[in-house]
Amino acid sequence: MRIEIESLSKVYPNGHRALSDVNLTIESGMFGLLGPNGAGKSSLMRILVTLQEYTSGKITIDGLDINKHRKKIRTLLGYLPQDFTYFSKLKTWEFLDYAARLSGKKRTKDRMNAVSTMLEQVGLFQVRNRMANKLSGGMKRRLGIAQALIAEPKMLVIDEPTTGLDPEERIRFRNILSDLSQKDVVIILSTHIVGDISSTCHNMALLHQGTVAFDGAPEALIKNVKGHVWQLQVNDQEFSFLKEKYPVISTIPSQGKWEIQVLAENVEGYHAINIEPNLEHAYVYFMENNLNVPLM
Ligand code: ADP
Repeated sequence: MRIEIESLSKVYPNGHRALSDVNLTIESGMFGLLGPNGAGKSSLMRILVTLQEYTSGKITIDGLDINKHRKKIRTLLGYLPQDFTYFSKLKTWEFLDYAARLSGKKRTKDRMNAVSTMLEQVGLFQVRNRMANKLSGGMKRRLGIAQALIAEPKMLVIDEPTTGLDPEERIRFRNILSDLSQKDVVIILSTHIVGDISSTCHNMALLHQGTVAFDGAPEALIKNVKGHVWQLQVNDQEFSFLKEKYPVISTIPSQGKWEIQVLAENVEGYHAINIEPNLEHAYVYFMENNLNVPLM
């Protein structure tokens, strides 16, 4: 499975340019689309799932032009939008059965098998008889992924996967996706939360103001920031001074002081330890540089 996006642009009727000359190749496995709010992620997702037209460029999915083969491409798709809250007055299993019916599974026996397997896979078998609208937030999100998966999509698009989930549910959700990524399926996660990507995606793109600012493995982005992340302990006064001077990435109270991490070429005059960067550091570094805040 392979998605090719060439010179894609999207200009909304009000003249706003949401995407500008986007070029990306996305292959089977987990792909992270990271960027701040307004970067153009949802616009790109909606275009990929054929819910929105684009202005210029070309997209092919498994060699099929998205404009010429909409119907066929829709049979390959699973989509979990950010605001997936539609749950009619159906039991959890009935809701999935309904989704299976929509996806074209006609035989009752096939549907029942698919529904049971899916309920097990997302950990909802125990609550299969509960009304879907009475599930917890995390369970609803899992039911959302189950309805997208029951059609056995070759391309799964998930917008803001972990919004509103508690840490335990986040991990659970990521594990479900990791299992899926073993198959010949493209899974695109669009998010502004770095943690959603660092632990799961082998490839990613960073969108910024409608353009691709980075495309590659998370490790390649992290490499940029090597040697620039410093950890140090400071008092209140030093903290106030330093945060004016450098981008501060994390702050933890520690024995009446603060343990902070800053991005800088060098932190002179302090006992600072250079630490191994992670994707969060790399993302902040990138955003700071793009916003033209010089690192000192
Ligand atoms: P993201 O998902 O990264 O937050 P979006 O794709 O939602 O970004 O939005 C990208 C930009 O396009 C934003 O500036 C947003 O305000 C604008 N935008 C989104 N949808 C529309 C629309 N229907 N009409 C006009 N502008 C829009």
